[in-house]
Amino acid sequence: MAGLKDTVSKSFTAINLKKNNFVTINKINTYISTLEHEISSLYSRMGTNAYARWKKDGGFDTDQLNEFCEKIREKEEEIARQKARIQEIEEEENQILGRNEDSGEEIVGRVYCAFCGTANSDQYKFCVKCGKPL
Ligand SMILES: [Zn+2]
Repeated sequence: MAGLKDTVSKSFTAINLKKNNFVTINKINTYISTLEHEISSLYSRMGTNAYARWKKDGGFDTDQLNEFCEKIREKEEEIARQKARIQEIEEEENQILGRNEDSGEEIVGRVYCAFCGTANSDQYKFCVKCGKPL
């Protein structure tokens, strides 16, 4: 009996884990979409401001352009971190539940992060630990 109870509670745990991860990943993806939208809006404002300035006296406000570029880069880095979080969640789920043999997902090779040295699947674009591009 203990064995059956164990199996049942384990599969409930697996379902809950998948469900929780699904919800979390969806939230992260929504956040990433918001960030991408904000980047588009920054590009647009940067272009509008640059053109208005150029029209006035044929020059550009470099400080202002730098400010826009820095804001865009910050958001890009945040997106990379969020994508790394998703990879981490998926990797953790695979470790807990066991990798699905039918998924066709296979670790072909390992790539070591140049920043923190963590071993990552070569299928990943970002380090699962620090979120830097691989
Ligand atoms: Zn790293």
